[in-house]
Amino acid sequence: MLEADLLVVGAGIFGLATAYHYLRENPGKSVLIVDRMGDVGQGATAKSAAAFRANLFTSQTNRLLAGSSVDFFLHVQEKEGHDLGIMKVGYLVLRSREQFERVSEVAKMLEKMGAVRIYRREELMEKLKMNYDFSGDEEAELLNIMNVDYGIFGFKCGYMDADKLAYYYRDRIREMGGDFQFNTKVERVIVEPEVKLGIPREPRAWQKVKFSGIETNKGILKAKNLVLAAGGWSHLLLDPLGIDCISKPKKRQIFTVRPRTEEQRALLYNPNFNEEGVLPFTILPTEHYIRADKRDGTLWFALSDEMRPYSTDDEPEESFYYDNIYPIVVKYFPQLEGARVDNMWAGLYMINSVDHNPVVFRRANMVVATGDSGSGIMKGDAIGRISAALVQGKKEAELFGGEKIPTDRLEVVGRSLEPENFVF
Ligand SMILES: Cc1cc2nc3c(=O)[nH]c(=O)nc-3n(C[C@H](O)[C@H](O)[C@H](O)COP(=O)(O)OP(=O)(O)OC[C@H]3O[C@@H](n4cnc5c(N)ncnc54)[C@H](O)[C@@H]3O)c2cc1C
Repeated sequence: MLEADLLVVGAGIFGLATAYHYLRENPGKSVLIVDRMGDVGQGATAKSAAAFRANLFTSQTNRLLAGSSVDFFLHVQEKEGHDLGIMKVGYLVLRSREQFERVSEVAKMLEKMGAVRIYRREELMEKLKMNYDFSGDEEAELLNIMNVDYGIFGFKCGYMDADKLAYYYRDRIREMGGDFQFNTKVERVIVEPEVKLGIPREPRAWQKVKFSGIETNKGILKAKNLVLAAGGWSHLLLDPLGIDCISKPKKRQIFTVRPRTEEQRALLYNPNFNEEGVLPFTILPTEHYIRADKRDGTLWFALSDEMRPYSTDDEPEESFYYDNIYPIVVKYFPQLEGARVDNMWAGLYMINSVDHNPVVFRRANMVVATGDSGSGIMKGDAIGRISAALVQGKKEAELFGGEKIPTDRLEVVGRSLEPENFVF
């Protein structure tokens, strides 16, 4: 049986970026990527809103991961000429006074760096038609709706096309000789003693182990090195090995609405914030977010609800829009009155509730890359570089632009990262 130099489980953004950077640094090595779906990026990657914000994080580590990845994506589109569907529409985080005060130090620091602009309510009122003040509105109080007092506008921000990004990595991997095996479900990771003694019940607790391959619905595949990048399903393969990835999956849903009135179209095609002439990627004080999709001519709505059970269920529920999204957004934007769902889908966030930074670590000859916490597209390239460096046993990974990061920064054991406050 052939033994690949590197076998990657999961053809989402984390697995793809890992395989790409490993091959780039090790031309000629054999790399096989296995996924149970029929093509790349069919897990959370394709389901995402694919928004990016280069600097708009309170965690310095997240700023580094997203900043360097976004620079790489811009380089690919603007310098290499591969269309990733990037739209630099900006990010508009709307906050009440109380919410703003909690992040004002970071926001002001980012403004000094030239990464964001802080708008006050009066300035916003000239640019965006919405309700700002809900004092005396009993219904708004019941719905826990907060006033809009500030807007933090991120410049190097926007959204891209997650499919195009996945195809970019897939095609480069193929050009470098990497291979894919789709429609292949991994049932388990195979554990063997590093040195086989031929005694019963190996490996015993005192033996050093290696992860020698995977058992799939299509047979066994062997590898010298393994990368587990199985997104919201990672724990299902890790739990039987007794390995904790401090992350669990939650369903996240997107609902799209096609504007039907002039006022709704005016909301989508807002000319006051960016050269694309559309509403920026907007986060409401209630954490509902809106993507104005210029190509499709639709408004996308989503909410990361806190009380949802951890589970791998990823079926969209239309009632979620009418129960939890519409009543709130229509309070902020009365022009959306009557806006009905045109399309919907759902995927999984793999949430690391400890600090909402990604999780990347190595055990024996296996590297695990997961814990995206809902912002893995925009950090995907950096995660790929770190995990490819870990496969090679390197202490540091070089991110796009040249900055170095220790490869144990996202390790589980002894982890001490700044918590992230901008989680949407
Ligand atoms: C609704 C929604 C909106 C989002 N919006 C954004 C956003 O705006 N910006 C952003 O940066 N991020 C966003 N995200 C998060 C982003 O999608 C993820 O961070 C990213 O896709 C994670 O990539 P991944 O490679 O870890 O996981 P995935 O893309 O899920 O890849 C994992 C792959 O592993 C495969 N797999 C799993 N188990 C097995 C198995 N046993 N055998 C074989 N194959 C297996 C799956 O089929 C899948 O293809 C969003 C996510 C959702 C769900």
